[in-house]
Amino acid sequence: MVSRVIPVDPFDLVIFGGTGDLARRKILPGLYRRFLAGQMPEDARVIAAARSEMSDAEYRAMIREAIGEFVSKARQDKKAIEAFLKRLSYVAIDATGEDGWDRLKQATRRDVVQAFYFSVAPALFGPLAERLHNRGIACETCRIVVEKPFGHDLASAKALNATLAEHFHEGQIYRIDHYLGKETVQNLMAVRFGNMLFEPLWNAQYVDHIQITVAETVGVGGRGAYYDKSGAMRDMVQNHLMQLLCLIAMEPPAHFDPDAVRDEKLKVIRALDPVLPDEIVRGQYQARGKDPGYREDAENPASLTESFIALRLHVSNWRWKGTPFYLRTGKKLKARASEIAVVFKDPPHSIFGPQENRRGNVLAIKLQPNEGMTLRVTIKEPGPGGMRLVEVPLDMSFAEALGENGADIPDAYERLIMDVIRGNQTLFMRGDEVEAAWAWADPVIRGWEERGDRPCPYDAGTTGPEEAQILMHRDARRWREIRE
Ligand code: NAD
Repeated sequence: MVSRVIPVDPFDLVIFGGTGDLARRKILPGLYRRFLAGQMPEDARVIAAARSEMSDAEYRAMIREAIGEFVSKARQDKKAIEAFLKRLSYVAIDATGEDGWDRLKQATRRDVVQAFYFSVAPALFGPLAERLHNRGIACETCRIVVEKPFGHDLASAKALNATLAEHFHEGQIYRIDHYLGKETVQNLMAVRFGNMLFEPLWNAQYVDHIQITVAETVGVGGRGAYYDKSGAMRDMVQNHLMQLLCLIAMEPPAHFDPDAVRDEKLKVIRALDPVLPDEIVRGQYQARGKDPGYREDAENPASLTESFIALRLHVSNWRWKGTPFYLRTGKKLKARASEIAVVFKDPPHSIFGPQENRRGNVLAIKLQPNEGMTLRVTIKEPGPGGMRLVEVPLDMSFAEALGENGADIPDAYERLIMDVIRGNQTLFMRGDEVEAAWAWADPVIRGWEERGDRPCPYDAGTTGPEEAQILMHRDARRWREIRE
């Protein structure tokens, strides 16, 4: 299979917060990999803008180091790195003041694709948008990229949307959810809508339930103070898990175009039933030996913030009535593993008589660490001795199945940045989607706050609190194993 790199138009990409953690770890290394892949045209430029005073040479040295740290050794080609660095320049700027804006204006062109990446705290979105507009830097067709978190609740998300809308229209705003940039997530749409095999079965008649798991082994150490104000609901469920749920549950859009896809996702969020208190389990990891617990990591000995959530959701529409969706995410769990599992019902009648430990078909879509899919099917156990059934996986790792191209799967940020340059908003959240997700999450969070709800403790390295298992057992179901 020959790798296809679709060229993009010449561009100026301005990265506000170009010296920050996200820029150094993800954005610039991602751009370098796209450069290596031949996707950055000759006259594409990256202009980093941040608070510190530094020269172009100093900024390039910073990114040389970042590439050394965050790009795999196999991709580190000295000549290519130097050629890439020549595309970068740096402007010291004060987002809330007047310094640096004239220089930025001189450094940007208006006759190429213009993208402004706001890789800064959300409080700076307004001042940046205003200055880009008022100083005549942003052209009519420029694109604005904003990072998570998009709001802390419905009111703040609405306020952010309104701030951006003062200067830019919705077609210019790209709200990043990097989960949507993952290859497998897009493959979910390809599998559902590009095959005849699955879609006829994709409904409450044939699907017993759906599980979405995003498990992490890391704790919140290092960003505890930020996380403590957020928690798993705001940090993961309201955005990433909700987006995955939408792609699984949505109706087929009429076209693969941004608004058609986002309209269908929005309908799913609006069809969610309110969650009852006994349908959610909150957890908080506790100290074990020398390993600090959540409260030590968060430096808040009385914290009631959750580092784990498991919940059951119902999508009340014709397709899904009666098929629950179970979502689970947490920190310090036993393995780093994210997957979506569609668990099908058993056949209505077994012609083979009773079979012990029979389990139905499961389509598991793995998002990390290795992207791929497995379909669990039932076959005959080999050998004589009658008709005994056994389940085996039809396994497909994308890296293996796609050969050389598989190893070359762009990471989520690379893909999303290139989509911005192409002007394709399909994998970005629209303002009304974000607001609908907050409108669903807000009352749940408010309920906990009003009740002083205490998260259930769990040991690091496990699957989370016991109560999460009970949530499933009550419905005579069980969670899939969390494993890499
Ligand atoms: P950071 O603190 O490491 O970097 C912040 C950047 O903003 C720096 O470059 C700094 O110079 C610049 N800055 C701050 N105040 C400024 C001002 N007044 N004028 C101009 N520049 C200013 O932050 P980060 O971790 O890179 O995160 C950036 C954004 O991305 C945040 O909104 C964060 O929530 C989001 N985000 C970060 C990550 C991550 O892994 N780091 C992941 C997802 C989302």
